[in-house]
Amino acid sequence: LSDKLSAVFDRLTKRGALTENDVDEALREIRRALLEADVALDVVRSFADKVRDRAVGANVIKSVSPGQMVVKIVNDVLVETLGDTAEPINLAAKPPVAIMMVGLQGAGKTTTTAKIAKRLKERHDKRVLMASLDVKRPAAQEQLAVLGRQVEIDTLPIVAGQTPLQIARRAMEAARLEGYDVVLLDTAGRTHIDEPLMQEMADIKSYASPHEILLVADALTGQDAVNLAKNFDERVGITGIVLTRMDGDGRGGAALSMRYVTGKPIKLIGTGEKMDAVDEFSPQRIANRILGMGDIVALVEKAAAAIDAEEARKAAARMAKGKFDLQDLCDQLAQVEKIGGFGGIMGLLPGVAKMKDQIEKAGIDDKLIKRQRGIILSMTPQERRNPDLMKASRKKRIAAGSGMRVEDVNKLLKQHRQMADLMKSFGGGKRGGMMGKAAQ
Ligand code: GDP
Ligand code: MG
Repeated sequence: LSDKLSAVFDRLTKRGALTENDVDEALREIRRALLEADVALDVVRSFADKVRDRAVGANVIKSVSPGQMVVKIVNDVLVETLGDTAEPINLAAKPPVAIMMVGLQGAGKTTTTAKIAKRLKERHDKRVLMASLDVKRPAAQEQLAVLGRQVEIDTLPIVAGQTPLQIARRAMEAARLEGYDVVLLDTAGRTHIDEPLMQEMADIKSYASPHEILLVADALTGQDAVNLAKNFDERVGITGIVLTRMDGDGRGGAALSMRYVTGKPIKLIGTGEKMDAVDEFSPQRIANRILGMGDIVALVEKAAAAIDAEEARKAAARMAKGKFDLQDLCDQLAQVEKIGGFGGIMGLLPGVAKMKDQIEKAGIDDKLIKRQRGIILSMTPQERRNPDLMKASRKKRIAAGSGMRVEDVNKLLKQHRQMADLMKSFGGGKRGGMMGKAAQ
């Protein structure tokens, strides 16, 4: 399949513009890849629509092939949909903070409970109590006690004959009395979703008011993922998802399905049976896995780099013509910020490091960059393109808008003028003269 996809992209590469047909052709393969990764059908459909909307409208930058552009968009939408950043477990509440684990039987709830407890103790220095509310499976409570001893986390003493609600009550009381920070409530599952399970979960929830309700699901869950996530979210109201068995062969399509239908973040992934086998969720890594194309991802990165290079080339061309307005300055300052401010530049260019003292003497630092950008952003587009428009009343408005003084605006304008003159003297016919020098 990967080969087929590459072939489609190769063909796209050799054409000029990205037509609707091109996008549709690429999307046929993308749909197939998603289905093979076990993404639910409905999710595949609406995901493809989202990509299509974005792709057909998008400009294809000259130096980037249309195929690369499609890949980049697919990748971007996938990462966006999965959630751009990792969301940690939320403990911002009055202790003891209850965390409730829910899910089907065998999903990995008990194992994950112990893994999370260990993590909270080791990384966040929390005192954690675990309690098994699973009175369905004969040895379930003992299983958690064994894991507890293994990771050196306290478990609630087992009392025979109690209901899940009674155990929950006892756990919360013990935690309050004994000053635990976090209580992990490991619940019972079923082989499939049924009403008694949902009722039991809802009851435990209304009693313990857990701060987090984590749905634990097997990464190999296929088309059922949507139903599973929807049901638990509607009936119990989950706050996050833990995807287990990501160490297996599964491509992790369930991550996309569950995130898509609930909008809830995937907080952690389980990567093995050992107690350390738990990781933060990385959208990019799952995206790679779902698309199953390492080489294409490399292409995506190249495409992104090419897009930046194209911007730089355009800027250089303008400068070579002696054009350097305030918008150009603003873009350049943004670039400097993007690569980590002056510290970042100095790290990249050994030559600049030698100028460190001079730069510091001139009072140029990262705060200044922010302030200068702030001033330019308070100008109208016309003012940015034509600094000569700047009269006293405009300067006053801009100063007020950016929270600076008129002198600061003047200083910026003077600096810009000097830079523009410098550019002109560099430009004088030789295209990209300055940029050429900088690249050496
Ligand atoms: P529960 O019924 O939801 O409580 O599931 P358990 O925690 O008892 O786990 C069922 C089985 O799955 C156990 O054998 C675990 O060791 C195993 N398991 C749980 N999480 C993972 C994981 O991330 N990777 C692998 N390979 N096995 C796991
Ligand atoms: Mg269990």
